[in-house]
Amino acid sequence: MDFIPVNEPLLNGNEKKYLCECIDTGWISSEGPFVKEFEEKMSATTDRKYGIAVSNGTAALEVAVQALGIKEGDEVIMPAFTIISCAMAVTKVGAIPVLVDSDMHTWNMDVDEIESKVTSRTKAIMMVHLYGLPAEVDKILVLAKKYNLKVIEDAAEMHGQTYYGRPCGSFGDISTFSFYPNKHITTGEGGMVVTNDEELAERCRMIRNLCFRKDVRYLHDEISDNYRFTNLQAAVGLAQLERLSEFVTKKREMGRYYTEHLKDVKGLILPIQKIDYADNIYWVYGLVLEKDVPADNRLMQKLLAEEGIGSRTFFWCMHQQPVYQKQGKFVNETYPNAEYLARKGFYIPSGLALTREQMGKVVIAVRKVIDCLGK
Ligand SMILES: *Cc1c(COP(=O)(O)O)cnc(C)c1O
Repeated sequence: MDFIPVNEPLLNGNEKKYLCECIDTGWISSEGPFVKEFEEKMSATTDRKYGIAVSNGTAALEVAVQALGIKEGDEVIMPAFTIISCAMAVTKVGAIPVLVDSDMHTWNMDVDEIESKVTSRTKAIMMVHLYGLPAEVDKILVLAKKYNLKVIEDAAEMHGQTYYGRPCGSFGDISTFSFYPNKHITTGEGGMVVTNDEELAERCRMIRNLCFRKDVRYLHDEISDNYRFTNLQAAVGLAQLERLSEFVTKKREMGRYYTEHLKDVKGLILPIQKIDYADNIYWVYGLVLEKDVPADNRLMQKLLAEEGIGSRTFFWCMHQQPVYQKQGKFVNETYPNAEYLARKGFYIPSGLALTREQMGKVVIAVRKVIDCLGK
């Protein structure tokens, strides 16, 4: 039986050609010319003036948090249900993630809960767009303005997505992307920070490269890291970016196919196809089990694997991360919707290389597993 992996990227454009150019010219480090070109083209797609390519999407969040000057004791409001990169970027500088429950409809942060979480120590809101629909951007921006807070937009899953026609990655003070192979465009590992603020962009460039002092090299006034992005990564990224709109169209077609073929299955909550501010871009095709289905997402993953289908559980909640519990963080905090999604949500194969034939097999397997659970 051929196993259908949960994600397989599509690399059959100019990737090989541009990579060969790197080899032929000897430009493989972060100093190579493709890096700047990729930064310019990527930031242009998000209506931003500056792009700073970094080693991965987690690094992009770390650079953004540091560049905004968020430090020990500061509070950053973010969803309880998200990837740990968001919380880690904040706790790494000694700041405190303040969590907000999820909206069961969109799986994004419930914006109506944000205001009650604002204190005198709040410095920023981390707006994360999850699984294919943008968060409620305008409501977040209004609150940020009212309380004078910075906004970091984590657009890692949103290449090519828009909110009321404006590109994701264009909102707030600074936005971040990931180019991991399961994102809409990939560079293997990779990430980018985009912003319109020249000073902030310059801070990001410093932080990316060990905070070398401008006047005298090898003198450093601050602790940082090496978050550099190579010419090889940029070569792949440029080839991928050429096909962004094609990829977005393909993802939406895949989403529609799955919805069409799974919508009558009892026990499954499907992703929303369309909301007034956006059409789902299906970063991955996520499914949530209804309460009465006698299984959690880990069991689903196991049962689907037995049918030859790769799948993944949704993210785990920040307040229930063993590392933060060990540190005595988030004691007695509960976020029922976030907890539900973390236990009952999973996603099925949705990589760009997936064929229609494979999708048909996925549908058959999902229906079979749900059917067996009901008996
Ligand atoms: C993938 C992802 C990241 C992290 O990106 P990496 O490149 O894997 O470090 C951050 N935030 C969100 C929402 C993501 O989906």
